[in-house]
Amino acid sequence: MILVTGSTGKLGQLVVDELLRHVEPSTIVATARRPEALASLAARGVTVRELDYDRPATIAAALDGVTNVLLISSSEIGRRVAQHQAVLDAAVASGVEHVAYTSILRAGTSSLIAAIEHRATEELLAAAPLTTSRLRHGWYIENYTEQLAPALANGAFVGAAGVGRIAAATRADYAAADVAVLRDRARWGGTYELAGDAFTMADLAATVSRAVGRELPYADLPAAELTSILTGAGLPGPLVEFLVDADLGIARGELDAPSATLQELIGRPLTSLADAVGVAVRDAG
Ligand code: NDP
Repeated sequence: MILVTGSTGKLGQLVVDELLRHVEPSTIVATARRPEALASLAARGVTVRELDYDRPATIAAALDGVTNVLLISSSEIGRRVAQHQAVLDAAVASGVEHVAYTSILRAGTSSLIAAIEHRATEELLAAAPLTTSRLRHGWYIENYTEQLAPALANGAFVGAAGVGRIAAATRADYAAADVAVLRDRARWGGTYELAGDAFTMADLAATVSRAVGRELPYADLPAAELTSILTGAGLPGPLVEFLVDADLGIARGELDAPSATLQELIGRPLTSLADAVGVAVRDAG
């Protein structure tokens, strides 16, 4: 059986959908803290179990009969390493063969704040006595397409990413690659740098401008100015620091990488930025 953590989350739902295209529903164990939120999957024959990173007994019980685990990185920044350790400990104790972990691009060397907990988790994976795979995701296109409202309202995109290239892909494309690794024993144990077709913030602004039929420029700002805009918009301090740091990392090229590995794993062309933006603009009404 293949267990997926965070199955109610945006990425986890897509992973379970992708698994359903390839394997028997009963061999999928979809988990989250509130299994009742997974009732629609249970109705389709998916095995649904409670799994709370902070309650080890639920992890041990959820792993019953499981050989293969996708550990989707926890969304609780600052607490993730201990939570991931709890899953790894339980997986080792219950005889799981393989754990794949959704990490970040070039986790081993990245200087992004976002990479700190991923790197620490990858160190735990390396030390664990089972087969582990690192699915190093680049940025999600949805980081932008789900945040179009402020740019549309203000008539411009703002950032501190300069002309840095962002090799982003959609969550669905990453989910398909994650499942390709989970399903193919020959790929277990690998480190996969997964990235989409790169664009700059100016490219993003031009793509959105075409989709909405009006010109939205990209204004590149000093980090301090971006910090004060995001803070003024009510974002919490740690999130502002995380976002500004990510933009500065983009400017240094830290989120740029070739898209060949992702494309090869999913076996079809990646969803383009233009298509993803088109869907987001249509959905926004
Ligand atoms: P979501 O916030 O949509 O989902 C989070 C999931 O984690 C939910 O299923 C939630 O389940 C589960 N969860 C939260 N706390 C616990 C807990 N204590 N025990 C068990 N499960 C828990 O996140 P996404 O799917 O969007 O993101 C997944 C990962 O990807 C995160 O690590 C996130 O930081 C990262 N990410 C990466 C991006 C990139 O550009 N590379 C962009 C955005 C996110 P429930 O609450 O139902 O229990």
